[in-house]
Amino acid sequence: MLQSFQIIGYSGGVPTQDRGVTCVMVSTTNYDAMIDCGEGSYLRWKKAGYKWKNLKYILITHMHPDHIGGLIPLLFYRKLFSIDSPLTLIGPPQLKVYFEDCFHHSGLTNKQDLQWIDISAINQLGIQDNIEIFVLEMEHKIPCWGYKISDGDNSLVFITDTLPNSNAVTLAKNANILIHEATFGHHMREKAKKHFHTTEIQAMKIADKAKVGRLILTHFSQRLSNKDIKKWYWNGKSCIVFDERVEI
Ligand SMILES: [Zn+2]
Ligand SMILES: [Zn+2]
Repeated sequence: MLQSFQIIGYSGGVPTQDRGVTCVMVSTTNYDAMIDCGEGSYLRWKKAGYKWKNLKYILITHMHPDHIGGLIPLLFYRKLFSIDSPLTLIGPPQLKVYFEDCFHHSGLTNKQDLQWIDISAINQLGIQDNIEIFVLEMEHKIPCWGYKISDGDNSLVFITDTLPNSNAVTLAKNANILIHEATFGHHMREKAKKHFHTTEIQAMKIADKAKVGRLILTHFSQRLSNKDIKKWYWNGKSCIVFDERVEI
């Protein structure tokens, strides 16, 4: 069963003193899944109290450094701690070779039990405890995918680094929680379009069309202050949770 989510990194592109780059934890009854692993995610993950033994899946949306910059360090620390439980990495087709090249060029051998799933080839997969993952491609400068995690009763959708698009609506349809990027404020919508990102108003329109239960916004440009984003409400509820743990 899905239990909670926590956005432990919510800065878009560049981290700030207070905001890490993208990393979201989704906890189920028996294990945790991490979505994206930007630089610095390991320490934030550890500080938030997560444990190696529970980390069974890592889902990656795309290969930009603010989404994968923390992955090689995380897998290196995992090696140093001799964690031998299986870990499944789900993501773009290059993810496995990227990891192998990084380890190879650093003179590291991998003895961890890692499984790799290429999401360009599938739309849906079942993971432990009857939890289903659905995947649809978004519209970014490089291939990028959105994820829906569902236990049959509840679902959480994570969509980042994309122009507003119809796949986002399809993937988020009737989800309990939609976590969507809002890199720029709507007054900067031309810039958002140029850089293949979404504004808060565009994300709210997607939430309207998909009839989700709650919209949470993330992946904020440094230009957006906490004061700016705290004004964002959808359906009477704040779209901002910062890094607190939220029950699903
Ligand atoms: Zn990004
Ligand atoms: Zn990106």
